[in-house]
Amino acid sequence: MKPKGFVRKTKQREVILDVLRNTTCHPTADWVYQEVRKQMPHVSLGTIYRNLKTLSEHGEIQELCFGSTHSRFDANAHQHYHFVCEKCDIIEDIHMSAMDELEQKAEQMGDFKIRGHRLEFYGLCAQCAKEENMAKAN
Ligand code: ZN
Ligand code: MN
Repeated sequence: MKPKGFVRKTKQREVILDVLRNTTCHPTADWVYQEVRKQMPHVSLGTIYRNLKTLSEHGEIQELCFGSTHSRFDANAHQHYHFVCEKCDIIEDIHMSAMDELEQKAEQMGDFKIRGHRLEFYGLCAQCAKEENMAKAN
């Protein structure tokens, strides 16, 4: 969705990308920071934030915004949908094809050119659903 362009490779960015590509948990900047620190002990949280911003601006990664400081990051920059657990905030990919027809429909609703869309599904993950059922049973 965001314009792609050349992003200069730095050691920090390499490590950040590596950390992101090796997880499926859609981590927060803070989580990325803790992981990167294991390899680069002197890195700052501010540096992590800045680099994540740059990487997502260049379409290298995806930023999922959930309010100011609650962004989650995804090494998969291609369009795909997510499931968000309302209880534990786990985020998982949903493997379904993109609904491009939604964009055409939205475009017909007004005078704008749609270039992309984001969609999140909310509910309870299997674990939280199980716990809720157990709590009800007691
Ligand atoms: Zn959950
Ligand atoms: Mn994802």
